Amino acid sequence: MARYAFEHLESIGEALRRSPFGLVTDVDGTISPTAPTPQQAEVTPLCRRYLELLCQQIALVAAVSGRSAAQVAEMVDIGGMVYIGNHGLERWVNGRPELTREARGYQAMMAAALSELKPLLSMEGIIIENKGVTATIHYRRSPDPASAEKQIAETLQNSSQASKLHAMPGRMAINLLPPVATNKGTATSDLIREYGLRSGVYLGDDVTDIDAFKAIHDYPQETGFHGLAIGVISEEMPEMFTGEVDFTLNGVRDVERFLEWLSRTASQPG
Ligand SMILES: [Mg+2]
Repeated sequence: MARYAFEHLESIGEALRRSPFGLVTDVDGTISPTAPTPQQAEVTPLCRRYLELLCQQIALVAAVSGRSAAQVAEMVDIGGMVYIGNHGLERWVNGRPELTREARGYQAMMAAALSELKPLLSMEGIIIENKGVTATIHYRRSPDPASAEKQIAETLQNSSQASKLHAMPGRMAINLLPPVATNKGTATSDLIREYGLRSGVYLGDDVTDIDAFKAIHDYPQETGFHGLAIGVISEEMPEMFTGEVDFTLNGVRDVERFLEWLSRTASQPG
């Protein structure tokens, strides 16, 4: 049973004393409240302020998102932060998205799948977000989300192109991904290795973050790395993943308070 982070700040602080320390965070639902459409979502001013401070204080501050890397860069836009997009399939490097090796070559398949999925757009409240190498079908604005979800799943199964892709459920959305082993978890492990981290935190609110929670826990102990998985609980995402996390926070407001605490803790001599 995961515990409420604010009741255990001392042990969290203890675990994070090892340097280099890194923070890897999801974006939507974690540092940005859920909005009716993806375009309307924004990083809250307080999250922005503390992430900016943390960039000066710790070895790594990274955002990992299902959005495209370009969208993450535009939306977060904090100097010194690392942006990973498309569920780990691309990274923002020198002002451009760079696909991982595994992801290259799947853009044509995704485009073909999306053209087969066009009939979905005649359903009320369905938005298809084309992110190049991945796509997300949102049904948040559907008048009947449960039946919309079912209909989307059926359409995916009946599409010769989309059925070759990996369909991953998210918050009021279904993500279409290339059938490769890259995810938020592999992206997080890569960051830990690259930055030689000895401690770190992953913050996330969604089922797609579970791979990253696992990566934080399964990272080889002999490297000296010790990480904490912190789940952001919301009404939409109840406690379904609390078995995967060490601690919980309640919503984006709590994330703001946690980042503030983290920044204050990081500025104190250990
Ligand atoms: Mg999220």
